[in-house]
Amino acid sequence: MAAQTNSNEYGKTTYPLLPLRGLLVYPSMVLHFDVGRPKSVSALEAAMVEDHLIVLASQEDGQIDEPVVDDLYGVGTLARVKQMMKLPNGTIRVLVEGLARAEILEYTGEQDYFQVEVRIHSEPDDVQATPEMQAMMRSVSQQFEQYVKLSRKLDQETYAAVVDINHPGRFADMVASHLPLKVREKQEILECFDIQERLERLLQILSDEREVLELERKIHQRVRKQMEKTQKEYYLREQMKAIQRELGDKEGRMAEIEELREKLEAKQLPPQVYEKVEKEIVRLERIPASSAEGTVARTYIDWLLELPWTEEARSTPDVARAERILNEEHYGLEKVKDRILEFIAVQALTNRQSGPIICLAGPPGVGKTSLARSIAKSLNRPFVRVSLGGVRDDAEIRGHRRTYIGAMPGRILQGMKQAQVINPVFLLDEIDKMASDFRGDPAAAMLEILDPEQNETFSDHYIEIPYNLSNVLFITTANNLYDIPGPLRDRMEIIQLAGYTELEKLHIAKGHLLPRQRDRHALKGDRLRMSDDVIMEIIRHYTRESGVRNLDRLIASICRKAARIIASGESKRVTVTSALLTTFLGAHRFEYGQVEETDQIGGVAGLAWTEMGGDMLTVEVSVVPGTGKVVLTGKLGDVMKESAQTALSYVRSRAKSLHIPTDFHEKVDLHIHVPEGAIPKDGPSAGITMATAVASALTNRRVHREIAMTGEITLRGRVLPIGGLKEKSLAAHRAGIQTIIMPKGNIKDLEEIPSIVREAVRFVPVSHMDEVLELALEEAPLVDDSEQSNHDAWFADLLSEGKYGGGEAHQ
Ligand code: ADP
Repeated sequence: MAAQTNSNEYGKTTYPLLPLRGLLVYPSMVLHFDVGRPKSVSALEAAMVEDHLIVLASQEDGQIDEPVVDDLYGVGTLARVKQMMKLPNGTIRVLVEGLARAEILEYTGEQDYFQVEVRIHSEPDDVQATPEMQAMMRSVSQQFEQYVKLSRKLDQETYAAVVDINHPGRFADMVASHLPLKVREKQEILECFDIQERLERLLQILSDEREVLELERKIHQRVRKQMEKTQKEYYLREQMKAIQRELGDKEGRMAEIEELREKLEAKQLPPQVYEKVEKEIVRLERIPASSAEGTVARTYIDWLLELPWTEEARSTPDVARAERILNEEHYGLEKVKDRILEFIAVQALTNRQSGPIICLAGPPGVGKTSLARSIAKSLNRPFVRVSLGGVRDDAEIRGHRRTYIGAMPGRILQGMKQAQVINPVFLLDEIDKMASDFRGDPAAAMLEILDPEQNETFSDHYIEIPYNLSNVLFITTANNLYDIPGPLRDRMEIIQLAGYTELEKLHIAKGHLLPRQRDRHALKGDRLRMSDDVIMEIIRHYTRESGVRNLDRLIASICRKAARIIASGESKRVTVTSALLTTFLGAHRFEYGQVEETDQIGGVAGLAWTEMGGDMLTVEVSVVPGTGKVVLTGKLGDVMKESAQTALSYVRSRAKSLHIPTDFHEKVDLHIHVPEGAIPKDGPSAGITMATAVASALTNRRVHREIAMTGEITLRGRVLPIGGLKEKSLAAHRAGIQTIIMPKGNIKDLEEIPSIVREAVRFVPVSHMDEVLELALEEAPLVDDSEQSNHDAWFADLLSEGKYGGGEAHQ
């Protein structure tokens, strides 16, 4: 380029320079802009004085107010100022026309403004495009067209005007000027003096630009789609609101939905549950408010929202505290309390929420429920109780499928809802009273619930989502262990509660029941007085139970009556006497299985064990002439009837040694009766009692009245062990019995018997019926005191005279 001379058609090479900010002017472009900076104004003025020509050069950085030489690009545009107009704010608006590219060679002066020497790169009007250039121009046109379509920033006319330009250089400049390029990019095009190079660069920029645009468009579309969807939903929802409003369901459903949504957001739910609720809410929205389906969906959502899923009670097992609470709330029960404290200690050490399942077994009213409640209290966990009594359908435990009308979750999840936390103490009451039939086996469901391996994902038919029960501390209760299905029983750690002695009941009444009922009835101070004797009278004659439930009820009833007397102003305080007791509670309800006043023939005190606890029953036998019939009365169960037959057969086998005619069974009828006829009785444990009674009646020998007995009998007279010795001995003690004949096999049970009973009663373990008869029957057979004991004579007498040989046990 050295040979190139710096001359041009404009007649000079030095011009004033006007720096441009954020703007670039191409040759052949006409545009106006405002000039405000003093230096720029001076440059303008200088140009105006001469030939109106000026060099426009862009600043690299538009932010700079006072650019120096280095801030300006090295190539600018020679332009003619066509118009100048002073604006009111002091700036000048100019209209310029680009003429040619001006390469700055040197800055020749800088006082008021920049002055530069430039080399002008003019492009003659008649430059002809080479075929290559034409091809490129076509390409640029196409790309530009697409760009115009995509960008929508340019109108069709501008586009048409631009592509109409034949001059390849100007064409490129015009396209570039219409693209939204950065100044730096525009400058690149400006600096391409070679037209072909300029077109190439432009093509590249265009294709880049188009790509960006394409991307933008895609993003935009996506955003728009999303927007449209939300808008559509919003619109539909609004419409639905309007429709529902028209149908009279004003805020109703919508307010309901909003409330549910708020609840959903407020509650901490596992993702699975959250999603389910969300889905159900959307579904609910579409169901007309009046339809029954809406109620079903609503109830389901409520259930999911009301069940505890993550809420947890803070519980720190503390043995000392537990001990205090247990002792405060329960009298006696030392062994039971010890077992419970051991259990809590293990919990504290292992830091586990659940653990082995405790089963509190015993008759009603012995404090099973209230012990469980105390356990919850001492662990600081909420307590819920669900009764399983009478549950025969597995759906009662696991719920009904939602397709059933009125479907509900099962009792387990109902309990959980009530608990409001995932780790309550959960009492499953009367687990022995579940029954299974064709509707399913609730015991199988219980097995799953009580199995730590399986209860993490307990499935309720109604809720459908697996529910985690593994943090729950389950406690069960049962009246009769033998009614619990084996596998279920094996899973539990059984703690037996036997029943209270009269004395224990007295303590419980004085220490717990009475104070509590006094509080409830606002009978503070000494407004209600009751002596021990009176309490004992209630225990003895108004209740018949192992526990203290009825006792509690009667005390409450007395409190009510006393409160009424005081409230009516009749009296300031009430002292309950035996006479007042009769007014309050009526006549004695129970006359206890008491010891007979005299020794009886054919009447023997037996000990029975029912769910109500132990009881003393008299077995009566009478002998009448007949043909060998045996009549059994007193609502005896099959096992008991068989046991009576066995007893009879034993007596027959011993007829000789007992001095009974060996053919007695053909000559007399035997009637065996167990009084309290309305109470069903069963079991083998009255075997020795019946044998003794039969023997007594047939031998006419009296039975010692203060002896009671219990034991199963075999045909050969062996005495087999029985259950419930503790309860039976309590009953015997209460009745005033002094000797209890019991099977040897039950010796191990003796240690469970309260010491007060052991001290008062003599226990005689036996292994054979012969020993029983030895102990129970009095020596002399009574026919006639004067005659010697001739049993055959007595028997003959009986047959000839039809005289009863006994059976007047109850006079
Ligand atoms: P269960 O569940 O065994 O049928 P509950 O726990 O309902 O019996 O007991 C009945 C009532 O007797 C409760 O009010 C309970 O507090 C009270 N109770 C039972 N045993 C005792 C005890 N040892 N000390 C104090 N109160 C007792």
